[in-house]
Amino acid sequence: MMTKLFGTNGIRGVANEDMNSELALGIGMAWGTLLKKSNPRPKVAIGTDARISNHMLKSAITAGLLSTGCNVTDVGLVPTPTLQYAVKQKDFDSGVIITASHNPPQFNGIKGVASDGTEFSKDVEDEIERIYFDKNHDLADWKNVGKLSNWDGAINLYINGILATVDVDLIKKKQFHVVIDCGNGAGSLVAPILLKKLGCKITELYCELDGMFPGHNSEPLPENLVDLMKKVTEVGADIGAAQDGDADRAIFIDEKGTYIWGDKSLALGGKYITKQHKGGIAVTPVTTSNCFDDVVVENGGEVIHTQVGSPIVARVMIGKNAVFGGEENGGLIFPEMQYCRDSAMSIAKVLEIMAKENKPLSELIEEIPKYEVYKTKMPCPDEKKENVMKTLAEQIKNDSKVIEVDETDGVKLYLEDGWVLMRPSGTEPIFRVYSESKSKAKAEEIALTYKKLTEEIINR
Ligand code: MG
Repeated sequence: MMTKLFGTNGIRGVANEDMNSELALGIGMAWGTLLKKSNPRPKVAIGTDARISNHMLKSAITAGLLSTGCNVTDVGLVPTPTLQYAVKQKDFDSGVIITASHNPPQFNGIKGVASDGTEFSKDVEDEIERIYFDKNHDLADWKNVGKLSNWDGAINLYINGILATVDVDLIKKKQFHVVIDCGNGAGSLVAPILLKKLGCKITELYCELDGMFPGHNSEPLPENLVDLMKKVTEVGADIGAAQDGDADRAIFIDEKGTYIWGDKSLALGGKYITKQHKGGIAVTPVTTSNCFDDVVVENGGEVIHTQVGSPIVARVMIGKNAVFGGEENGGLIFPEMQYCRDSAMSIAKVLEIMAKENKPLSELIEEIPKYEVYKTKMPCPDEKKENVMKTLAEQIKNDSKVIEVDETDGVKLYLEDGWVLMRPSGTEPIFRVYSESKSKAKAEEIALTYKKLTEEIINR
C-alpha cells in the first residue's frame, strides 16, 4: 500500500494500477472534507489533459467531491495553467487537474490548485493525505450532495488574459512565423489560437489532441524535438516552441533550428522583465544557473533562491512581490498573468521580447552569459543526510575559498570561480552534486573537490 500519495508533482501513477478510480474517489472525499472546514459549500473547478484515462479519473474524483457537498464545475479538457487561471479569476475555492504532465501515456495523475491559482502547498497535500488514510470523511446528507455543472469558457478567458498582458500590437507588426509543437497535448487547444491572435504565421506540428502522444514523447527534451528543430529551418521560421503534455512548460528553438535550454529562456525572461521594471525581485530555485543571477543583477534586480519546486517558487514570488520567477525546465512564471508556470504566456512573452529588442532569438540568447555545468552523485543513507549537511556547513566555515554558504536546499557554496551544491535526493539514498563555472575543467574540479569532502563526512 502506498503511504505517501503526493510526490513532487501531485499524485502520479499508471492508470488502473496505482492511479486508479478508487484512489481518485477517496482523494475527492478527503479533498472535499478539507475544503468544507473553511466553507460549507465549496466551489471546485475540475479539468483534464488529453490522456486516455482522463474521464475515468475525473469522474471518480468528481464523485468524491460531490459526496462531501462541494459544487463541482467541469471545465473540460484544458492546459494546467488554463485551469489555474480560471480558479483565480472565477473565484473557485479550489481546482483539480487530471494530468501526468510529460509522463508516458499510461500514466496519469491528480494535481491540486489553491483558490489563488497556485499549486497546492506541501501542507495542504499532507492534510488531504491524512484525511484520506484516516477515512474521516465529512459526507453530506442526501439533501446536500453537491451539484455538477459544465463551463466551456476557461480557454477563452485564459487567452484573453494573455492578450491583455502582452503588447499585442507590437507582436502583430512583426508577423512572426512560429512553428508550434504541442506534442499532441492539452496545449493544442490554446497555442495555435493564441498565435493566430498575435498575428503570427503558424506551422503546426502535433497539434491534434491524442492521449497516445503519437508525435513524440511529451517531455520537451532535444531528442523529442528533432522534427521541430528541422521544421524551423525548413520553413524559415523565426522561432519554434514546444509544450509539455499539460502545457505548463515551454521550450524554444531559435531561427537556426538550435534547441534553447531552459536555463537560457529563464534568463531571457529574467533579463528583459527586470530591464522593463528597472530592477525588481526575481525568484528561482538554488539549482538554477548563475546566468540568471548575472542578467537580473545587471538590470538592477535581486535574485531570491528557494528550495526546489514550482509551488515554492510561486509562493515566495507572492510574498516578495517579485516581478518574475521560474525554473530551468521551461517553467516560467509571470506575475502579471498568474503565479504558476505558464507555457502559452511564455511563448507570447518571448515573442514580445523579440519584437521589442528587434533581434532574432539566437542573438538574444547569445547575449546571455555562458556557464559550464558538472553533475555527479554519491550514495548516502537517508538517516545520515541531515547530519551530513550540518557537518558540511560547519566544516566549510573555515574554508577560505568559500565566499558564501546557502543552506536553503542542501548546501550551496559560492566560490570565487563558481558554485557547487550538495543536495540530498528526496526519493533516493544519494546526494546530488551540481557545480557551475566558466570553464568545464573548473566546474569538474569544484564538484569533485567538494564531493570528496562530503564523502569523507558520510563515511565517518
Ligand atoms: Mg507539465
